[in-house]
Amino acid sequence: MMKDKKYLLIPGPTPVPPRVVEAMSRPIIGHRSAGFQAVMERVTGKLKKVFQTENHVFILGSSGTGALEAAVANLVHPGDKVLALSCGKFGERFAELARIYGGNVDFVDFGWGYDIDLNVVKRKLDEDSAIKVVLATQNETSTAVQNDIEGLGKLVAQYDAVLAVDAVSGLAAIDLKTDEWNVDMVVSGSQKAFMLPPGLAFISVSDKAWAKIEKNTSPVYYFDLKKAKKSIAKWNTAYTTPVSMVYGLEAALDMILEEGLPQVFARHALLAKATRAAVQGLGLELLAPDECASKAVTAVQSPMVVDADTLRKVLLKEYGVTFAGGQEMMKGKIFRIAHMGYAGKMDVIIAIAALEMALGKCGYKAELGAGVREAQMVFVGGEHA
Ligand code: PLP
Repeated sequence: MMKDKKYLLIPGPTPVPPRVVEAMSRPIIGHRSAGFQAVMERVTGKLKKVFQTENHVFILGSSGTGALEAAVANLVHPGDKVLALSCGKFGERFAELARIYGGNVDFVDFGWGYDIDLNVVKRKLDEDSAIKVVLATQNETSTAVQNDIEGLGKLVAQYDAVLAVDAVSGLAAIDLKTDEWNVDMVVSGSQKAFMLPPGLAFISVSDKAWAKIEKNTSPVYYFDLKKAKKSIAKWNTAYTTPVSMVYGLEAALDMILEEGLPQVFARHALLAKATRAAVQGLGLELLAPDECASKAVTAVQSPMVVDADTLRKVLLKEYGVTFAGGQEMMKGKIFRIAHMGYAGKMDVIIAIAALEMALGKCGYKAELGAGVREAQMVFVGGEHA
């Protein structure tokens, strides 16, 4: 049996297309050369299209958490009232960062598996005019829940507070109209829907956010966005840019823009729909309800008789398929199937076919083909019913 064929279906890092790998293999040039400045100008322009913004967008050499830290370090002044909206692990992380930078954090936990309730947010903002920063997650990867960022952006825009959104696992998979929806800071990372290896992060900054950042005197060095703004005015960067990753980024952005943003979002929505239909066809329960289900990743409750992590081990050992597990309180209880970035219909079919067989090996009697058929039905639009 061929042991080395692997199917990576986790919500980051995700598979990297050959076109991106090829672009990254080009010879390095100096990061301060005229040639690289031209690359930065071009790539930033393409990145802005994916961010759907005219705001500054910075490319940072870091993981997604680094860019979350950049957002908080630049935005939050010690003592600032911060409204942190959380529905899982990454909402908790954003709040923790705000606390570390001295924020006076009002942590609102909507619960794992639930989305942000805008009525609660409105009440909080109405009750407390001192709130200066609102933190939220677009796609809560730990629970496969996506939030209504359009509603949130339009709501927070009516107040003085600045809205920063963690879109690390959702941008380029789920629509986020940064300018139209008034999202002041959008943070994302390279290794998810951007189809790159881990190592780059991106951050956009609105005029409303700059007004606050310019006044902030908190200590920040590597992630100083004021410094980054000065450098990028000359298409330069303050520190050494990961040159090869930027080459890869341009190839990935070209792929996204050639497919078209609406088409990219529709593809993710279709893959999510098929995955959800398939696991339900196997009699399994989904963690997130349809209304707030992520288009980029699906979280499935493992049947009572099956430990999710044992199931994942069988999937990897027998079929070379990797799903993500549950984090913290969800450990062993859920597994997560990603369908983000360089993902298509056959990735879903592989995931579900392997799942059906692995469930059987773990003692859960799933009818072989029952899930695959549901996914196929979504893909063919019911024409073979
Ligand atoms: N935010 C979200 C929503 C994520 O999914 C992740 C990673 O999974 C992060 C933040 C952290 O990103 P990184 O692991 O690149 O630091």
